[in-house]
Amino acid sequence: MGSENNASIKRIQATGQMKKIMADYFYQLDEAARSGSSKIAWCTSVGPAELLLSLGFQVYYPENHGAMLGATRQANDYIPVANAIGYSPDICSYLTSDIGAYIKQETPLTRAYPGIEGLPRPDVLVFNTNQCRDVQDWLGWYARELQVPIMGVSTFRNIGDVTDLAVANIAGQIRELIPELEQISGNRFDLDRFREVMALSGRCTELWKQVLETNLAKPAPMSFFDATIQMGPAVVLRGSETAIAYYETLLAELKTRVSEGIGAVDNERFRLYWEGMPVWGKLRDLSELFIGLDTAVIASTYCNSWIFDAFDPEDPFNSMARAYTEIFIVRDEAFKQRYIEDIVSRFGLHGLIFHDSKTCPNNSNNRYCLPERLEESLQIPTLTINGDLNDMRCYSDEQAKTNIEAFIEQLESR
Ligand code: SF4
Repeated sequence: MGSENNASIKRIQATGQMKKIMADYFYQLDEAARSGSSKIAWCTSVGPAELLLSLGFQVYYPENHGAMLGATRQANDYIPVANAIGYSPDICSYLTSDIGAYIKQETPLTRAYPGIEGLPRPDVLVFNTNQCRDVQDWLGWYARELQVPIMGVSTFRNIGDVTDLAVANIAGQIRELIPELEQISGNRFDLDRFREVMALSGRCTELWKQVLETNLAKPAPMSFFDATIQMGPAVVLRGSETAIAYYETLLAELKTRVSEGIGAVDNERFRLYWEGMPVWGKLRDLSELFIGLDTAVIASTYCNSWIFDAFDPEDPFNSMARAYTEIFIVRDEAFKQRYIEDIVSRFGLHGLIFHDSKTCPNNSNNRYCLPERLEESLQIPTLTINGDLNDMRCYSDEQAKTNIEAFIEQLESR
């Protein structure tokens, strides 16, 4: 067993720059909301953000806010508030914590960014159900509460190949959003501007992929727990030069770590995959636990979800439709199995951890026998941890620690 008591997380120097650009992002949104200088769109995280940016909207992402509520461990103050108005404790705890916080008129933004008093009020709400139905229901509540128009894309689920027919359908739905968005934004759609934003997003996603692939190195320079924080700009600032500049800096730092043989975990003995949502309120605890066990969690479905290989500025509608339909969560079990098998072999992984997230069945891939199939095909062990993305009543520190330690012992004995 490793030296649990000496666990310390190595700081990524670029994080200071990330904090600054994230602060700038929220202050710009706040300024736009106060002054009316730009219209504001709230968009689901894998929604048609590039289209909105090209029309001059500033884009705010409720899921990012949900993750902040989880990471600051405030979610459980608010989930019961949403439960009290009829949203079940069994549905997405991003949704329940975010709506609960709104009802109480509280947000972690006020503490993180002095001067910001609340969320930037939306002019339009835009969803893509590629992740789940919850995002539509979530924005639907705000549409009723704030009397704001809502629109979006209804996508396919559980698909194998992403066919041209599916792409044409989704591209058509994206196109159909334009007239109403033009009216709300006051700007005409400009294909060249759309192409420019797609090119910026494309470059951001390429860099994010390269960042994640630095973990092909042994030892791996960045943990999954670091990556969940580092992906912030890929989520909320894709489509901007700012995100590109940030990932160039981060990539250079990680490449330096690789060339100097510096790993996120000293004495890296085991390399693991994290499948499913992060446990936002326990990132530090889990990170330290694994470091103490000389184990690097270095690849994940979650962080890979912001790699959009298909983006092509020359064919923006179809390529956006393809990119946002190719993501893991939309795909069938056979695709998911192949996808994880490929990563395990490329990254040289020794085991897989599945997070069964109580309120997100969409991102809990242990429930249809995938761990068992992967154990058989890869001949490596898997562990399922019960928990949740935001609702810490579903997570037991002791149980997770005991199970993870036993899992590492199992790896040692192989
Ligand atoms: S995918 Fe899961 S965590 Fe994300 S919005 Fe849907 S239910 Fe919530």
